[in-house]
Amino acid sequence: MGNLYGLIGHPIGHSLSSDMHNVAFQKHGIVAHYESFDIQPPDLQKAIEGMKAIGIAGFNVTVPYKVSVIQYLDEIDEEAERLGAVNTVINRDGRLFGTNTDGRGYLHALMNKVGQDLSDKSVLVIGAGGAARGVAITLDHHGVHRIDIANRTMAKANELIRDGVSHTTSKQPLTLEKAMRQLGNYDVIINTTPVGMFPNVDEMPMYLNELKRGTLLSDLIYNPIRTKWLQEGEKRGATVLDGVGMFVGQGALAFELWTGISPDREQMRRTVLKLLGER
Ligand code: NAP
Repeated sequence: MGNLYGLIGHPIGHSLSSDMHNVAFQKHGIVAHYESFDIQPPDLQKAIEGMKAIGIAGFNVTVPYKVSVIQYLDEIDEEAERLGAVNTVINRDGRLFGTNTDGRGYLHALMNKVGQDLSDKSVLVIGAGGAARGVAITLDHHGVHRIDIANRTMAKANELIRDGVSHTTSKQPLTLEKAMRQLGNYDVIINTTPVGMFPNVDEMPMYLNELKRGTLLSDLIYNPIRTKWLQEGEKRGATVLDGVGMFVGQGALAFELWTGISPDREQMRRTVLKLLGER
């Protein structure tokens, strides 16, 4: 079964990953198939054992198993260790090896917009959940000038700054209100909360009155592709980065780890945009 790949999560619905990877396999002449598996929480261990037994070549892991899957894998790399979560598993001669491509996928998309050198950038991360963790810890490790984290629950912002941001010396946990008042201080502002996601498309994580022109405004949400927040930002002269960039970025890195081939990201993006457009 060396040509089967997949995704585990719950609930899984119609997964964008299946189409994105299957179209990429076809494009690169790889005979393989990617399938989504909706796994009930009590069945996680059995599911992982089953993956191993059938000799699956690799799989992605999504909510709610990115942390709990770790205990059933044979090995995880430094990046998964750092983020405390796995989103990609590779079968190496029967051993399941876990890594995490979420943070690097985001970093790749961000650098496409603002350039490779982030060392002088001041970054605001809104939210302190799983996605914020991946983004903030990766940016910290990569080296940025400043990282502030604003969250509804201050204790979680404090914790992420304290435990996750270890390289960046300029860092602060903030309330949403305080962050909103000082938006003009940042070069990159990233929404990692679900505020503005379908069906609540008229909501915004914060108002943008203090935004300075030329700021990179980034939203991890990809449904809708252009959130109200990004639209407002564009009106105020911001450069915007939608959530499809991160989604394609993490998928492209997983594809490369599995096959050794760097996939056509533009084509992956087109596949995802087409699917989102059809929803
Ligand atoms: P999560 O772990 O549940 O974290 C959610 C965060 O959003 C928490 O910090 C939470 O604050 C905050 N939040 C939730 N509702 C809020 C509200 N009404 N007002 C203010 N803050 C609120 O979720 P996650 O896994 O990080 O995912 C977050 C978003 O990122 C989702 O929209 C997801 O689709 C998106 N995402 C996108 C990609 C991609 O590839 N583009 C990848 C991963 C995730 P509290 O701490 O106060 O609860």
